[in-house]
Amino acid sequence: MTETPLLLAVVVPCFQEEAVLPETHKRLSRLLDTLIASQQLSPESYILYVNDGSTDRTWSIIQELHRTTPYACGLNLAGNVGHQNALLAGLHAVKERCEIAVSIDADLQDDIQVIPNMIAGYRAGNDIVYGVRRERTTDTFFKRNTALLFYRLMGAMGVKSVYNHADYRLMSRRAVQHLCRFRERNLFLRGLVPLIGYRAGFVYYNRDKRFAGESKYPFRKMMNFAIDGITSFSVKPVRMIFWIGCIFILIALCVTGWTLHSYIQHNTVPGWSSLMISIWLVGGVVLVSLGIVGEYIGKIYIEVKDRPRYNEEELLMR
Ligand code: UDP
Ligand code: MG
Repeated sequence: MTETPLLLAVVVPCFQEEAVLPETHKRLSRLLDTLIASQQLSPESYILYVNDGSTDRTWSIIQELHRTTPYACGLNLAGNVGHQNALLAGLHAVKERCEIAVSIDADLQDDIQVIPNMIAGYRAGNDIVYGVRRERTTDTFFKRNTALLFYRLMGAMGVKSVYNHADYRLMSRRAVQHLCRFRERNLFLRGLVPLIGYRAGFVYYNRDKRFAGESKYPFRKMMNFAIDGITSFSVKPVRMIFWIGCIFILIALCVTGWTLHSYIQHNTVPGWSSLMISIWLVGGVVLVSLGIVGEYIGKIYIEVKDRPRYNEEELLMR
């Protein structure tokens, strides 16, 4: 069976990656060589390195690769805007120039040998193919468990996301184009991609250690990322305030009954009953009011994000 070769763009965000880039390019090029030779990919396929405002030699290495090797392309951002923004910038740049795009980190912790499987997944009719980590044995105990906690919390907050999937995925041209229609600033791509809605597939792989350089995601950045993930997708925390307020009012009613009972029995000191009742009642009313105000703010937040309401897949008309 002959299948038409596909034009692939690999998008690689890079921040302070001078230590890994030459090796990364070597490995990716070798993979493209084989896939082009076997007519899986068109020879115009390329790798776009997005330099996210690195202060080391990253950009000069990319320029050098662009000059001296095939496949290498580069996009230099004028400052550090963070992994998610850099990745989106890269996807914007390739969205008119490819049939499929694969996003992957510069350190190649994600196994590039599953890219052919992703392509197979695309040919089988999936517009998005998620790379999913089978296990996290190469991560530290701490990172593994905080990550697990994070996915659980996301799930509980009603955010759709793929468990153990980072930003290693294949997207078809139309999926990338739809993703680019999301205009929000607090980017959490892992939460947005499932909203695209096209058919999706999965490939599984084992995650490697970083082969050089250090993680660019220290604990502080990871926490911010997690908070962004939840607050950009869920207004449930606000609703929780409302329900806690309701519980407080219920407690206040019980406390009122009990206080009045003690008051009638004359075993209270002056002032206690009125204080008791007002503390609980006022507390509950304040929380419920906050919840109501929050509900409106949540609505405003959703409007302001101006997300596309739907994604048309096909339209049959006469
Ligand atoms: N990265 C980026 N901008 C940043 C931080 C990271 O473009 O501000 C890139 C980095 O170069 C790498 C990817 O994001 O390609 C993932 O970073 P890293 O491997 O350090 O994260 P970890 O694998 O430790 O979560
Ligand atoms: Mg990494």
